[in-house]
Amino acid sequence: MPICFFIPSHITDHLARAARAQGLDADAAQRTAVASAAVRQQRRTMAATSLVAVTAPIPGRGDRQIFDDRGTFETGVRPVRGEGDKPVNAVNVNAAHDALGATRDFYREVLGRDSIDNAGSTLIGDVNFGDSYGNAFWDGTRMVFGNGDGQVFQDFTRDVGVCAHELSHGVTQYTAGLAYTEQSGAMNEAFSDIFGACVDQYVHKLDAGEHNWLIGEELMAERMYGEAIRSMAHPGTAYDNPVLGKDPQAAHMSQYVPNGDPHVNSGIVNRAFYLTAIELGSFPAARVFYAALRGLWPRAQFTDGAYLCAEQARILARDGRIGRNAPQTVRAAFRAVGIN
Ligand SMILES: [Zn+2]
Repeated sequence: MPICFFIPSHITDHLARAARAQGLDADAAQRTAVASAAVRQQRRTMAATSLVAVTAPIPGRGDRQIFDDRGTFETGVRPVRGEGDKPVNAVNVNAAHDALGATRDFYREVLGRDSIDNAGSTLIGDVNFGDSYGNAFWDGTRMVFGNGDGQVFQDFTRDVGVCAHELSHGVTQYTAGLAYTEQSGAMNEAFSDIFGACVDQYVHKLDAGEHNWLIGEELMAERMYGEAIRSMAHPGTAYDNPVLGKDPQAAHMSQYVPNGDPHVNSGIVNRAFYLTAIELGSFPAARVFYAALRGLWPRAQFTDGAYLCAEQARILARDGRIGRNAPQTVRAAFRAVGIN
């Protein structure tokens, strides 16, 4: 079970190298890069010591619990807002509470899923993790938000898509369990972007044709305005600047990077989803991809994902829950990105 970071290491590393020359908080950038590496190593060690890395679900009612980590690199430091509690006097606590709620409601209403484990598990969110920490992650049990340095990234609770992306790693963990490497890893990342974008559309009441299909754009501080972390419509075009570097995401199988970061190769599947959503609408497309996710397995390949998406589209179309030409739309979308 991997630690799933929102900002991939090619960005945090570039930022750490470029920060001083760009007049940014170089210490914060360095701390973020080092802390991300440390959390990653901790997870590797844990996974290595217990080969069956299963996290017991907490059966419940899908309640939310927010913790304030008070600038430490620990999680679960102080509970500050639970389900049914009134808003508190901290913008990011309330934003995290709302983002967890929006993600939970999207899964329940649109996909018929009961919280992350489909058994009403408690949704846990941590804010104020680390010191100007420029990342957010899902650690297998909880969603952790950094504050950002305020120059490159704002507080990670500001973009509901961040939370939805990370919690969706939890959904994948409890369904397909896609291994975080090569094509299965790229699909793991893609499903998080797919449902992350859908929750963003759910909150802002947008459909496929109205959304900009950018991931992480609401996270950007003023200096980075207009840039994003990923583009689902046009992978590889989200950013290009001296601070973050240049977006390396693949948009087609011909650009697949063997042994590459899952965040790079995920662009191929992201674009297949975008092409499907433009034709079918985002939520019908999400139902197709979610049904496929539930049938996938840890070492599944892109062609397995494409096949299951088309099969699920056929079943949903047969039952009148989606347009009749959905299977053909899905196949055409995957073929357009070189997956046959
Ligand atoms: Zn991710």
